[in-house]
Amino acid sequence: MDDKSRQGVREIRINPIVPTESVLIATARSMRPRQSEEPAPRDTRKHVPTCPFCRGNEDKTPPEILRRPESDEWEIRIVENLYPVLGDDRNQSNLVFGLQQAIEGYGRHEVIVDHYQHGIAVHEMSVEHLQNLFGVYQLRMGQLYASDERLRYVLVFKNFGPAAGASMAHTHSQIIALPVVPQNLQDEVSNSRNYFEKHHHCIFCTLIDEALTFETTIYDRTSGEVVRRINVGQYVVERGERFIAIKPFASRYEWEVHILPLHHQSDYLDASEEDLADLARVMKRTMARLDAVIGGAQYNYFLHSRPRGKDWEDCHQSYHWHLEICPRTSIPTGFELGSGLFVNTISPEEAAEQLRNAELPDDL
Ligand SMILES: [Zn+2]
Ligand SMILES: [Zn+2]
Ligand SMILES: [Zn+2]
Repeated sequence: MDDKSRQGVREIRINPIVPTESVLIATARSMRPRQSEEPAPRDTRKHVPTCPFCRGNEDKTPPEILRRPESDEWEIRIVENLYPVLGDDRNQSNLVFGLQQAIEGYGRHEVIVDHYQHGIAVHEMSVEHLQNLFGVYQLRMGQLYASDERLRYVLVFKNFGPAAGASMAHTHSQIIALPVVPQNLQDEVSNSRNYFEKHHHCIFCTLIDEALTFETTIYDRTSGEVVRRINVGQYVVERGERFIAIKPFASRYEWEVHILPLHHQSDYLDASEEDLADLARVMKRTMARLDAVIGGAQYNYFLHSRPRGKDWEDCHQSYHWHLEICPRTSIPTGFELGSGLFVNTISPEEAAEQLRNAELPDDL
């Protein structure tokens, strides 16, 4: 073992899309400041008589918005959120965003019952079901944007496990329609627009190209010693015909994975049925890899897509929609919260390799 590998990787990496976000990659044992998060005890029951999201208890949920298919044997439902963080005009709550800018708390907050089976994990859902779920996300997102021109962003996300903020055990996602564009999305959209103005190329497409073709060796400037070799596919976790799952070079979370369309697309609403079918396949295999490597993961995933409003109209060529999956394997420390500098204790290269090498069932 040489000196380098005994010390592990220790470097600050800058998020190429949002350079104000950086992460400290510190793999040496002494650098691990975080407490491990216990894996969520999996509730694997198929049906729970007292659960309002289980089939047969439809009258125990807030009003239904849609169901697929339209029968008692529904597989996916959308209902109003019992405790919305935003309401329609009847609610007078205020929201605070960014520089204490108070905005009217107008919006929508809905719950998607992802599957009629109570405790099913995403990687256990069929590809067809996942395709339908992604289709329901798309349908509802489109309906919400069309319903009110004041809406600027429709965020679809899923929390799984208590550490990820899920309060209901039954598998579900949420949709929040906002009258403002969240700051992290504004940063992604405007920074990728700046990149496009300079380079006439989408930065996300560039990162995908690099993940697929880049091969280089980085030498230490003074000693001439090899610092790191970057190999073809080093960051690729899973690849479909139309989608790719990659481990970001500057991952905030140890097991964070992003899924992006291989061909440029700025808006999730533009994804075709064939696109969603391939997304479902890549998602199922990616989640199965995460489950195989970390087991019982608690995670958040969310969709980032082109926002609405005149400030964001010209980002079709520069923005590239994606799904971010952030498993929570540890609790952020005071250092991280205080500095805004995330500490990642597994190098993204190592994590990607483990995920790629995970053994998946043959039929997946
Ligand atoms: Zn249930
Ligand atoms: Zn692109
Ligand atoms: Zn994003």
